[in-house]
Amino acid sequence: MTAFLPSARGRDALASPIRRLTPFADAAKGRGVSVLHLNIGQPDIPTPTAVIDAYRAFAEPVLAYGPSEGTLAYRTALAAYYNDLGYESGGRAIEANDVIVTTGGSEALLFGIAATCDPGDEILVAEPYYPNYRGFSHILAVGTRAVTTTAQGGYRVSAAQVAEAIGARTKALVLSSPGNPTGTVLSSQELRDIATVCRDRGVFFLSDEVYRDFVYDAAICEGGSTAPGLLAQPGFDDNALLIDSVSKRYSACGARIGCLVTRNRALRAAVLKFAQTRLSPPVVDQLAAHAALATPSAVLRSAIDDYRRRRDALVAGLRAIPGVQVRSPDGAFYLFATLPVDDAEKFCIWLLDHFEVDGETVMMAPADGFYATPGLGKDEVRIAYVLQVAKLVRACAILGRALQSYPGRRPAA
Ligand SMILES: *Cc1c(COP(=O)(O)O)cnc(C)c1O
Repeated sequence: MTAFLPSARGRDALASPIRRLTPFADAAKGRGVSVLHLNIGQPDIPTPTAVIDAYRAFAEPVLAYGPSEGTLAYRTALAAYYNDLGYESGGRAIEANDVIVTTGGSEALLFGIAATCDPGDEILVAEPYYPNYRGFSHILAVGTRAVTTTAQGGYRVSAAQVAEAIGARTKALVLSSPGNPTGTVLSSQELRDIATVCRDRGVFFLSDEVYRDFVYDAAICEGGSTAPGLLAQPGFDDNALLIDSVSKRYSACGARIGCLVTRNRALRAAVLKFAQTRLSPPVVDQLAAHAALATPSAVLRSAIDDYRRRRDALVAGLRAIPGVQVRSPDGAFYLFATLPVDDAEKFCIWLLDHFEVDGETVMMAPADGFYATPGLGKDEVRIAYVLQVAKLVRACAILGRALQSYPGRRPAA
């Protein structure tokens, strides 16, 4: 009898560190314990009404395929949006043809890595990194090489580190700023320095900017309204790719619309061929994403203000717990915290398995899954602040109590 086993790459794929503990959370819920989800970045801010209305307004008799690269109307509107952000000054103005609409930023990452790397090549990431970078490169038989950033260094990656890490098979750097999972935001100077190293060494720079709007200190925006963007920096027309998404910006993760933007025509042609194999990105969702572009900036601002309050409440709550170390993140809606525990994964499981306060416990993502280097992140967790302030305050109280009772607590240094 033949055993029908999955491929080696299917067997070897890594489980998501964000969802890995879900069976333990389900078991807790089965026992009647409610779980505060700090593990996952699913925003709870209402999707703008214009987006919901666009879905309701769909009235075509046939739900047909759309163009593989996305509709011209939406791509034209996106180009205008980017030029308004100042990307015009980064080289020639962004045109509709520079934009390929994808099924979420996720597909833009998949296509971006596939268009820049062959099997056996590698991407460079700055750990802790967004785990799906490795997930996608794994699917493509592309390796992952990591430069390590640290809590002490504010989780910033330098051009010198990138220069040192680039190897013979490094074809692309994949970096998110504002960063998931660290919340670190790079300045335009840092972006330029890193992009310059990449360009000089023949390496593409895939800049994942899906959290562009989520910046909590105006100075970081350098006079604009969003985090500095790679395509706004002059001189990188050939090696710069932007990865973008409506998921976080419009609190519309289920819309499954993102895009890849590049001024490099040859790269765009390759991505378009990939896009043609999957025929079309979602059609109705594109109408909704197009409508989303008209969201008044006041609506976005108020969401950012909410997240800032959440961040501040969470950071204050965590700092009040003895032995917990945390830096206040500048952007996105995640932070990394160092806990006084023997093993963060064991502690996260114990929280779900063995601990509750008034029928409630907390779920966090153990940090080791955000590192490529074995052994790193053993005492760190990623916390998403996508819950209301009152819940974050409760979560910190639960965490404080839990750290008093946890048997694997590490004595204060
Ligand atoms: C959420 C996220 C994405 C893409 O999400 P989609 O929902 O597929 O658009 C990409 N990069 C980072 C860092 C993210 O957090």
